[in-house]
Parts: sequence; structure tokens; C-alpha cells
Amino acid sequence: MIIREIESKTILRKQKKPDSWFLTKYGMNIYRGCSHNCVYCDGQTEKYQVMGDFETEIEVKINAPLLLEKELDKIEKNREKPGLIGLIGGVSDAYQPIEAEYKITRKILSILAERNFPVMLLTKSVLVERDIDLLKLINEKSNALVGMSFSSVDDAISRIFEPGVALPSSRLQTLAKMKQAGIRCGVFLMPLIPFVTDQWQRIKEVFQAAARLSLDFIVFGGLTLNPGRQSEKFFSVIDTHFPELAAEYAMIYKPNKWGNATDQYYQSLSEPMLELSRLYKIPLRIPFYSFDRQFTLNEKVIIILEHIDYLLKLKNQRSLYGFAAYNLSKLKEPIEQHQFFLQSVKGIGKVTEKIIQEIIRTGRSNYYNQLLSNR
Ligand code: SF4
Repeated sequence: MIIREIESKTILRKQKKPDSWFLTKYGMNIYRGCSHNCVYCDGQTEKYQVMGDFETEIEVKINAPLLLEKELDKIEKNREKPGLIGLIGGVSDAYQPIEAEYKITRKILSILAERNFPVMLLTKSVLVERDIDLLKLINEKSNALVGMSFSSVDDAISRIFEPGVALPSSRLQTLAKMKQAGIRCGVFLMPLIPFVTDQWQRIKEVFQAAARLSLDFIVFGGLTLNPGRQSEKFFSVIDTHFPELAAEYAMIYKPNKWGNATDQYYQSLSEPMLELSRLYKIPLRIPFYSFDRQFTLNEKVIIILEHIDYLLKLKNQRSLYGFAAYNLSKLKEPIEQHQFFLQSVKGIGKVTEKIIQEIIRTGRSNYYNQLLSNR
């Protein structure tokens, strides 16, 4: 393993608009590269420019805590609502093995706790248990949310595709401890691996496990296979362990620069997810109201509309709610100033206006509640 300590110029990355998948407005990568070595990892794709060997050459941003202090000063000075501060990775996992030695993620959490900032964590490592004390403190003072990612809860399958992380059975135990500590948490079922973990029975096992632990959500996503080292690594594992699937993959992954499977394939995942969500009463989005005090009213409207849009499209229904949310994200002024002219915003008709007025009045939307609870 090659470890390179680097001094970064900045640590927080501000998003153009709040991310309704993770409820974040800021994200950070403390490390670059990840020794967890998941076969399907999108972070190893060349477009993210992680130099060297993704799983054996890791960069450590040793000045991350110092930078964070300064960048939080700015957020405080602007009296900005920060959303949840995301430790989600993308090109790393904040709890990969070297974190046990460097403890930078722990320092970051101490700063967030001390300064009353909320956090959203996404990891595949049971090392996160080490920091339950800090997450509990953050949760009591502001908000903490923990997501654990899985491609299934089957230990044997995980050994093939996620050789460098604890087995799903151990990850579930970690989530149980988080729940006992009063921290909201759930499953990111990402990616579902075509023809391996996307079958009804496999998905049902995930819902059963989540229901047993009273988890708060299951957010799922399909696999993208970008050309280059991600695809090469993934298919070498498929060739070794599931050679009979090669032809089926060729049917759904036609060459394209985004690495997407066909729309038809992704749409086929919706039906089992919706049905199991209804059966086990587990929502398919992170329930927003528990965290909404971290957002402005404009942002609340945008996130609720995006959740509505997502949930309708899962049901294969047409929706302009996402388009409306996008256009609202361009508003510079508080939405109350547009309250009587909402229909002049593209994508907003009578029904959407009614939903927005309800959110402005009550902070809630009945329609959203119904969709989220999948009634
Ligand atoms: S834990 Fe996440 S970042 Fe690390 S290898 Fe796996 S998918 Fe990639």
C-alpha cells in the first residue's frame, strides 16, 4: 500500500443545489482512492482523475480538519443553513482501513459536533462504530444520519464483489448499534448488480433485514459501467464467477459514454422495490422532515418536489415536478416573494402551485406524505 499525505487547498465542495438523494449541500472527500476494493466501484473511473492504482495508492488530505474550521467560519458568517454536511465519498470511503491510524474522519466529526453542524455519513465500514459517541452528540445537538451501502445482504456474494469490507451481516450489526444510539439510519442498496443481486428474493432479504432493525429508509440504484478500468475490473470478475451472464450483460449495456444500462432495465427494478417498500413499510427516499430545519424554505420546496418527482417516475408516471424544482432552484429571492406568481415559473401549473402553497403554509405536503409512505 502506498500512502501519500497531501495538503489540499479546500475541503468542502458546495453543490449547485441541495442533493435530494442525500440531503446535503456540502460534501467532502478526506481520502482519494479506496482500499475497500469493491469490484463495481464507480470512483475508479478515469473521469474522476484519481491517479495511480485506485485501491493501493491512497492520498490523505492531512490538513482537512484545519481547512474545515476555516470553511465553516464562512458558512457561519453568512448565516447559511448548511443542509447535512456530507461525508459520502465518491472517490473514497471515509472509514477505509487507514482511517483507523489517521483518525481524520474522527477529527472532522469532533469539529462538526463542537460547532453544531449536522452530518450525513455513507460508508461500507464497521469502523464507523468507533465514532458512535460523536455521532450521538451531533444528533442531539443538530442532526446525524448514517447510511450503510450494500449490493445485497448475502455474505457469499459480498465476498466476491466487496472483498475489502466487512460482510453484510457485520454491517447490519453496526446499523443496529446506530439505531440503539438513537441515530437515524438506513440502507443504500447501491448498486444492485444485474442478474446477481437484483432478483426478487435477494432484494426481499434486504427489506427483511431493514425491517428487523427498524431502519428508516432504503435508497436503491442500478449499476453504471463506465468504459475503462471500472468495466475491465467488473467483467473480469463476472468472467471468473458468473461466465454464463456475459451475454445477458451485453444485452443491457450497449456502449455509451455514461456507462448506463438500458432504461428498460433500470425501470424493471422499480416494481419489486415499490412492492417490497409497501409490504415492509420502508420508504424509498430519506424521510425529509426529520432534517428539514437544516434547509431554507426554498430548499424545502425543491427537495419535496424532487422526491415527489422521483416517486412518481418509479411508478412510471409522467412528472414535471423535477423540472419545476430545477427552475425554482434558480430563484435568488425567498419563495414567499413569488407566492402569488408561482405559475410564471416554468413547470409549475395549478396542482404544483397548490402543493408549494401548502409547503409554504405548513412546511409539509400531504401528497408527498402519501407517496413516501407508498399508500
Ligand atoms: S467503499 Fe465505496 S469508494 Fe470504496 S471501493 Fe467500495 S464503492 Fe468504492
